[in-house]
Amino acid sequence: MPDWIVRAAMAVMAIGLVATGVGLALIVIAVLRFLQGGRAWLVGVVRTARRRERLVQQLAAPAATYLPCHSPACGHMETVHVPDTDGRLVCEHCATPASR
Ligand SMILES: [Zn+2]
Repeated sequence: MPDWIVRAAMAVMAIGLVATGVGLALIVIAVLRFLQGGRAWLVGVVRTARRRERLVQQLAAPAATYLPCHSPACGHMETVHVPDTDGRLVCEHCATPASR
């Protein structure tokens, strides 16, 4: 077998070993970062996804509007009000009917 084929095969194996080593190092770094603070990061990602989902639902909801909610839970703040089954606008946060 010619020498250049052996050298080429060894070069390919060396590249494979280096790539495997880099991959294992990245896995170790990822595990260490997750153990250090990844849990909080993951919780943040989930919260952001849920918030985004709620925003999409609010945007998709027909006739949703911001109105002041005078319940103690909402403290007169403007909240999203959506129509309930009777067609009345209710606060999406505390389900109090809108006062008009
Ligand atoms: Zn409310």
